[in-house]
Amino acid sequence: MSLRITCPTCGPRSAEEWIHGEMFDVPDSITNTDEWDVDRGFFHNNPEGLVQEAWFHLYGCRRWVVITRDTRTDEILS
Ligand SMILES: [Zn+2]
Repeated sequence: MSLRITCPTCGPRSAEEWIHGEMFDVPDSITNTDEWDVDRGFFHNNPEGLVQEAWFHLYGCRRWVVITRDTRTDEILS
């Protein structure tokens, strides 16, 4: 069974309806705004375990949802 994300507006939906990204902090040592954008856009941490992610319901209501997902099991904890 594919991963399902629960949208507060639309209910549980297949992950194929969404786009998502890991939410992480850019290191404080990066102060140049161009370098900040590059780090945030291309240098993801891709950790194993619990990750906080923002999911955008692209093919639904077009709202954002923030979830915590275990990348080892795809279990959604909140
Ligand atoms: Zn929705």
